[in-house]
Amino acid sequence: MKESSLPVGALHVEFSRPVNLEEVARINPEVKAGGRFAPKDCIAVQKVAVIIPFRNREEHLKYWLYYLHPILQRQQLDYGVYVINQTCCGGSGLARDQSITGMATSVVTLAYSNSDVDLIPMDDRNTYKCYSQPRHLSVSMDKFGFRLPYNQYFGGVSALSKEQFRKINGFPNNYWGWGGEDDDIYNRLVFKGMEISRPDAVIGKCRMIRHSRDRKNEPNPERFDRIAHTRETMSSDGLNTLFYKGSLKIRKR
Ligand code: UDP
Ligand code: MN
Repeated sequence: MKESSLPVGALHVEFSRPVNLEEVARINPEVKAGGRFAPKDCIAVQKVAVIIPFRNREEHLKYWLYYLHPILQRQQLDYGVYVINQTCCGGSGLARDQSITGMATSVVTLAYSNSDVDLIPMDDRNTYKCYSQPRHLSVSMDKFGFRLPYNQYFGGVSALSKEQFRKINGFPNNYWGWGGEDDDIYNRLVFKGMEISRPDAVIGKCRMIRHSRDRKNEPNPERFDRIAHTRETMSSDGLNTLFYKGSLKIRKR
């Protein structure tokens, strides 16, 4: 199938000028309430839920929305943005994955991408959709000198189809604090016989908004031990160990 011809390629991304949500709304008139969009003149190749784990990063979120809404529209995706606000403890580890897994169970009919709130792609040909193999999108980050920090790296921005996500029993919920959960996800994918799909190092360039380590999100000293045991833990921790109350109503367009 022909990809959209709208993306333009390399983008200028910087964080010196503050942006605000009114401006974001003004320049994206076709984005509907709830951060939803679907192209008018074609049927999108995929319906994507973009899931952002979030706590105390308002400034980052504004930049994310400012840059990503125009990009995702040019990619002609039928998408919705879901900012999952973490109300308690944990950080990039437990809370990050519980919010993503919880969200994904609620939107199982959709493919989905998940993105750190502070990562902005520098090339709009890096499509935020799913592929036949699990996709890692943030392959060339400025903070790592525009290369992968290590070959197994799966952190930052990734995209999985519903089938791929189910196959690995979702993401782990037993990582508290910072670090390790992305390596656990990588292990799960490999143990289920999948390979990682990636854009090249030019299309995969992205910037991370510089930040200091969040309070109450210290590096998790148990992460190395946990990563060493993914094979045993993955079937008993993930999608099948999540409990949540209430139901999610996805607003109709
Ligand atoms: N995060 C957040 N608030 C926190 C900790 C983490 O919103 O206090 C989310 C946010 O989306 C962030 C992601 O979790 O981008 C990963 O955490 P972090 O940016 O600290 O990881 P690193 O920069 O080390 O990859
Ligand atoms: Mn970060």
